Amino acid sequence: MKRKYTPDADTIKRTVAPLEFYRHELPNAPLKKHGWNNGGLCPFHADNAPGSFHVNTETGAYKCFSCRIKGGDVIAFSMALHSLSFPDALKQLSDDWGLS
Ligand SMILES: [Zn+2]
Repeated sequence: MKRKYTPDADTIKRTVAPLEFYRHELPNAPLKKHGWNNGGLCPFHADNAPGSFHVNTETGAYKCFSCRIKGGDVIAFSMALHSLSFPDALKQLSDDWGLS
């Protein structure tokens, strides 16, 4: 029986570019420059005024000054947004980004 291969966290972080990831997850956010960007409306609280939520398009880190959620990379974002365990987030990212 063939087991499906799930890449480890380092492979995911090396392969999934934060800028592309956040363009996909936050289609309405005006993501352009390097580093910290305005992430548009925060997906973690009932946000109606852009300006609180920021994402880092180089490291994948994210933070919200309003609801105080924060994380260090795209894996943490996926876990928080989709309520996934760490292994499930790895699996979801590898599926979504064609790595498995
Ligand atoms: Zn928030």
